[in-house]
Amino acid sequence: MKTLNLLGSTGSIGKQTLDVARAHGYKIEALAAYSDVECIEAQIREFKPRYAALVDEKAAKDLKTRVSDLNVTVLSGLEGVSFCGSQADGEITLNSVVGMAGLKPTLDAVNAGKTIALANKETLVAGGHLVTEAAKKNGVAILPVDSEHSAIFQCLLGKPANKALKRIILTASGGPFFGKTKEELANVTLEDALKHPSWSMGQKITIDSATMFNKGLELIEAVWLFDVDADMIDIVVHRESIVHSLVEYDDNSVIAQLGHPDMRLPIQFAITYPERYPSPEKQLDLWEVGNLSFYKPDYENFPCMDICRNAIKKGGLYPAAVNCANEEANLLFRQGKISFNQIPEFISLASECVSDKKDFTLQDVLDTDVLMREKVRQLASK
Ligand code: MG
Repeated sequence: MKTLNLLGSTGSIGKQTLDVARAHGYKIEALAAYSDVECIEAQIREFKPRYAALVDEKAAKDLKTRVSDLNVTVLSGLEGVSFCGSQADGEITLNSVVGMAGLKPTLDAVNAGKTIALANKETLVAGGHLVTEAAKKNGVAILPVDSEHSAIFQCLLGKPANKALKRIILTASGGPFFGKTKEELANVTLEDALKHPSWSMGQKITIDSATMFNKGLELIEAVWLFDVDADMIDIVVHRESIVHSLVEYDDNSVIAQLGHPDMRLPIQFAITYPERYPSPEKQLDLWEVGNLSFYKPDYENFPCMDICRNAIKKGGLYPAAVNCANEEANLLFRQGKISFNQIPEFISLASECVSDKKDFTLQDVLDTDVLMREKVRQLASK
């Protein structure tokens, strides 16, 4: 039986991870979240973890009182989350924390020798070389939970580290604004942006899908996970979200992974790898699906993909910078303070000034985070 530490348990991926754990009887050793007391209390009562943590101190205090009848140690702050991921007894730490806040818990879990099931893409985007080097040093596997990277991982299974791999083809749904021009995008609202055509996800990532920044993040994530150059990764828009990504070999053979858009499958595979078990995902009926369509991405009206590609090609702190600038711009858009087209504009302007030094530390990344957020807020207040 697998044992898990689950970070980000009250979010969309966290809840679906618990669906998988419930179906297969996995033991949950630790649960951590941001501030949703009611949700995590119910999860603690059902899964009886040894540790639980909330980032928000007040919420953690409240939780402590609520579960005082149970044998669970309640921790608080980001340190509490890190403790749950690295010191609790789960053999696998699944990290689905949203945003840059996930980087430190991932690093701590890697250094504690935990197998990582990674749903926090910002971890690799902002701290790619820190995390991959620590994983190598500790002999730790990083298994992707993102549907596209799980697909690539599944397509590559059993192949050696890929001298014959020619190209990775990342599929993108295109989001709710597929086919729109910059002029049409100028006045879109939060409500419009939250209407994702095929995936049901949290708000931050749904906005990232609307701007296509999410695909840029996934491109950078793929560079680190599969040790390939950014130019080996192509993006193709695939509206049906049935083909989750593809790989192409030197002989032009292309291998794809298909399935319904349901995160429970990639979550489960990251936990059961290399085994496969029955999944709650609906069986794929190709007759019912009928047609699969593919389009070129619109790089002109959706510049975030190139912003990310250029950032990883420049290297150093650029990927961290564009990620952190995006986190702030994404938030300001959700708060109604900036327009949709200002998101890519502010990311580009804010990230101009960072360094491309290769040997950065975690502190450099954290400093970049503070700097980028400040810059984006300055741009927004003008
Ligand atoms: Mg994805």
